[in-house]
Amino acid sequence: MYPDYHMHTNLSDGHHTHDEMVYAAEASGLTEIGFSDHISLKPVGWAMDLKRIPEMIDLIAHIQKKSNSVTVRFGAEVDYIPDLVDQTRSLIKSLPLDYVIGSVHFIDDWNFDTDINGYNGTDIDVFYRAYFRLIGEAAQTGMFDVIGHADLAKKFAVYPTFKLQKTYEQCARIFNESGVVVELNTSGKNKPCAEFYPSVDFLEILHHYRVPITLGSDAHVEQNIGQYFDEAVNLLKSLGYKEIIGFNQRKRITIGI
Ligand SMILES: [Zn+2]
Ligand SMILES: [Zn+2]
Repeated sequence: MYPDYHMHTNLSDGHHTHDEMVYAAEASGLTEIGFSDHISLKPVGWAMDLKRIPEMIDLIAHIQKKSNSVTVRFGAEVDYIPDLVDQTRSLIKSLPLDYVIGSVHFIDDWNFDTDINGYNGTDIDVFYRAYFRLIGEAAQTGMFDVIGHADLAKKFAVYPTFKLQKTYEQCARIFNESGVVVELNTSGKNKPCAEFYPSVDFLEILHHYRVPITLGSDAHVEQNIGQYFDEAVNLLKSLGYKEIIGFNQRKRITIGI
């Protein structure tokens, strides 16, 4: 099995403890996982309380020592918020992380990932352009190792009137130049969009621009760890990918597929 680098515990909006997640990973045959609880400098209910960061560091150090059959990596899913880049950068630097996933969940103050009412009255073309501009900017900050769910704009199956090909190409070029990895996040399958993030079309272009890929289930419950990974790896192979990326202390590890 391949490493799952995107999951949440009850420190943020997940439902299980670190121990329970490791136990479930082990039971389903995974040998490596990474925790990536939400860190957001905007006060949102689904991110962890920043006061609990020391507790998170201790919990992960403890579980890394204890766990024999599953390698545990220390990651975080950190919001990219354009006005708070400096603060975000210093927070990331202060943590002993193996990798950082940078995610865009907000357009200005609208949390389009959870606030479905915000889509009413929104110009969807403008929304898509803003979203893809933000993930490009996130990559260019250099703060993040991985770009999370790179086409999250499609989550609720709301689509623009224009073709996304050019937008994907612009993003892929920026990702390549910025040296970020993109995650294949399998959780989109369970959402109204009913497909992986990024879409097959986007992944094809990412491969063309030699953007490396990591794998994440975005599990918020233990049952979803490693969900659809066989299908995801088969898809990557069919697109020509021969490896995926793991991380140790913010250095890349290449894993053959
Ligand atoms: Zn996310
Ligand atoms: Zn997540």
